[in-house]
Amino acid sequence: MFSNILRHRTSLSVSYRRALSRSVIRLNTPPKDPKAHENGLYYGQFTKEEYENAANVVKQQIDKLENEIKGDFNIRENLGKVPQFPQRDPSGSTKVNNLTDLFIQTIKTTGPISLSAYIRQCLTHPDFGYYTTRNPLDLRSGDFITSPEISSVFGEMVGIWLFTIWQQQNYPPSIRLIEFGPGRGTLMYDVLKSFNLFVKKVGKKADVEINLVEASKVLRREQWKLLCDEANTPFETDANGFDFSTSQWGNTIRWLDTEKDIKKENDVANYIIAHEFFDALPVKGFKKTDNGWRELVVEHSSSVNNTQPKLPSNESVSSEESKDALLNTEFHLTLSPKETPSSIIPTLSSRFNDLPVDSRIEICTEAELYLMKMVQLLDNIKQLGAVLIIDYGVVDAIPESSLRGIYKHNFVSPFIKPGDVDLSVDVDFTNLQQLSARFCSTFGPVDQGDWLHRLGIGHRIDQLIKKNSDYPEEQDKIYQSYRRLTDKDEKSMGKVYKFLALLPSGSKEPAGFSDPL
Ligand code: SAH
Repeated sequence: MFSNILRHRTSLSVSYRRALSRSVIRLNTPPKDPKAHENGLYYGQFTKEEYENAANVVKQQIDKLENEIKGDFNIRENLGKVPQFPQRDPSGSTKVNNLTDLFIQTIKTTGPISLSAYIRQCLTHPDFGYYTTRNPLDLRSGDFITSPEISSVFGEMVGIWLFTIWQQQNYPPSIRLIEFGPGRGTLMYDVLKSFNLFVKKVGKKADVEINLVEASKVLRREQWKLLCDEANTPFETDANGFDFSTSQWGNTIRWLDTEKDIKKENDVANYIIAHEFFDALPVKGFKKTDNGWRELVVEHSSSVNNTQPKLPSNESVSSEESKDALLNTEFHLTLSPKETPSSIIPTLSSRFNDLPVDSRIEICTEAELYLMKMVQLLDNIKQLGAVLIIDYGVVDAIPESSLRGIYKHNFVSPFIKPGDVDLSVDVDFTNLQQLSARFCSTFGPVDQGDWLHRLGIGHRIDQLIKKNSDYPEEQDKIYQSYRRLTDKDEKSMGKVYKFLALLPSGSKEPAGFSDPL
């Protein structure tokens, strides 16, 4: 077919050559005063016959060529009739200015998205994510407050615990203190203060490097401001793109994007803390149907019912937004009618086998990946390292539908204002404990109130209250914070927050996990 086309082209150019040679002559000696031919028109130097012949040759060749090329279906003739997907925005704008735009466009293109993809973008999208664009713990404008921010005594207790582990493991001289999701850096600050104090007391040497796994550049700056000397230890970035600085106690601090960036080094004791980190990891949602597990996906359509529970009626929304506005969601959770690639996930664990039809569950696969990395950082042979996971969550139960939005100190639907609302889930502690028990020794989960009391929070509070005997207001604050951290009623944190520890296989029980006999 190709040689055919070439042959026709050759004969086409012969006709052109003849015509061209004449027009060149015409250009060299242009008629001074062109005479009009018939009807007042000037036909140039071609006779009408010559012109029509040439035009005919050209038309025949083009038709021939077109037939050769177009096959059975001529796309050019059918332009506009061919389905195009996605449709262009009729307003002509396809710019993404926020996460709402991004989700609308993504859902238009790919169909509903998985809940975990929605949560991941909401929390850590580089330009519009909740954590990546603000300091949610800001005392004035923040959306929530955490235990380390309520009282420095919380971090002191964690520091003392790490010190007891260091002692139990025979004072390894090289320590890496790793924190996942350090927020403002307050917990690390208080941990270091008390840990360093006790190290000094026993007169041993400890070389401590700090690794902070933090997705947010905004929060990295806050952590640097708190932990480092702003004037003398700048926030720097190395050749591989990793941020680093030096703490005010002289420790090297490295900031890491994910758990994959943590390197395993021999003879280093890795002491790992994760406080309110696991609750910020994306979950997938599933519902059991007569035909097996189906995934809950996020849809953008007002015709779909929002299956997320409504705000409890006693929640007050103090801000300018009315409660109705906060329930009027743009996105909705809906059940995928068919299997999705993730439908297999619930079948991989025997925990979900016996659940009845209509059961709804949340599974956090990312939590399992982070957990496995933490476990790998323990050295079972040399008996080095420890992990302390602190979070709110459930024990001996499966989270069903715990995803919630937190906005200006209120619970709201997770499907409003994507990127402006914090999202959080109940941590599935039983799953974390059972998975890690295959590779190391696990202790807990136990209630926060019990753990803090066993570590001696009562004595420390007593000390502080005595120290502030001239400042009754301060004494009251110290006492109220203590109650908030340890009480077990619904408004306090003593029961709903849990402590889970992982230690090298065969380790003896650490402080905090059972009452002394
Ligand atoms: N531990 C702190 C902050 C809890 S808020 C405290 O208790 O005060 C959650 C923290 O985890 C924030 O620092 C947030 O930026 C970080 N974070 C959330 N998702 C993350 C991810 N996928 N990778 C790394 N850091 C993350």
